[in-house]
Amino acid sequence: MYDVLILGAGPAGLGAAIYGIRAGLKLAVIDRSPVSGGQVLNTYEVDNYLGLPMISGADISDKFREHADKFGVEFITAEVTGIEQGENQEDIKIVKTDNGIYETRALILATGAEHVQLGVKGEKELAGMGVSYCATCDGAFFRKRTVAVVGGGDVAVEDAIFLAGLCAKVYLIHRRDKLRAANILQKRLMALENVEIIWDSEVKEIKGDDMVESVEIFNKKSGESGSLDVNGVFIAVGVRPITELFKGLVDIDESGYIIAGEDCRTSADGIYAAGDIRKKPMRQIITAVADGANAVNSLQNYLT
Ligand code: NAP
Repeated sequence: MYDVLILGAGPAGLGAAIYGIRAGLKLAVIDRSPVSGGQVLNTYEVDNYLGLPMISGADISDKFREHADKFGVEFITAEVTGIEQGENQEDIKIVKTDNGIYETRALILATGAEHVQLGVKGEKELAGMGVSYCATCDGAFFRKRTVAVVGGGDVAVEDAIFLAGLCAKVYLIHRRDKLRAANILQKRLMALENVEIIWDSEVKEIKGDDMVESVEIFNKKSGESGSLDVNGVFIAVGVRPITELFKGLVDIDESGYIIAGEDCRTSADGIYAAGDIRKKPMRQIITAVADGANAVNSLQNYLT
């Protein structure tokens, strides 16, 4: 029987683990991946985490994990398949996984978010054959070639900057005439000579036989259709919370985020939500780590 089980080994889960261990709680972190870090692992460079400027996503994830290992945090690699809670909310919670069943007095849900699909023809068919959702993972396959990045947020712009260092040419296709990404990223992007921004345009189809060959685009302002010859398409059109398993267990908003305040308390006693799965205005590594600490603080009151 654990005091708390933490689902998810991203910054929120690991932050919670460090605070939980220091509070003397018997805890474990469950994640389907043996490699900790969550979405940060897909980030080329992080330069807004206090004290660690210009660090790669892989390196900051390693540092988080090393910290947790040093403190003796137990990690369980397993896919969670269900959670059961007794009729009384103070009852123990049962976490079912593909690697066994675990009992706990409290739960921190920190499963984060996953990429959204564009939903166009060719996307599924050519996934892994030129269509990718992770520039840092797959960018090297497109060295000296031409690629398109779709999206206008932080991830799309970071991906375009990263790919510009590898590829001969990068198109950034955005559906509006303004980027959503942070100003500092926009400035870096605009300074790159091999990046061309295709404004006000939607991707209609990704074409290719065995590999991506082109993207069909439609300019919403001019009404013109066109085609770009590319070898790869990196899709970065946002993320969605991984909360499917928690429906019925805790209150969730219309976009799938768990409703919980800064204290991370959900609608169910003894269950806390931390990081990107929580309904909140700012989803960053630093706010995810802070959620982990707040969740532990709240659950300590609950356990005692
Ligand atoms: P995001 O900020 O939600 O941006 C998604 C982008 O995709 C937007 O530009 C959006 O266009 C576009 N988009 C959405 N659906 C689309 C569709 N169907 N077709 C075409 N374009 C579409 O998502 P994100 O960039 O993945 O970032 C996720 C979160 O992580 C954000 O909160 C971000 O700030 C954070 N993040 C932070 C850092 C950092 O701090 N260093 C790094 C990476 C990510 P519109 O602009 O028109 O809506």
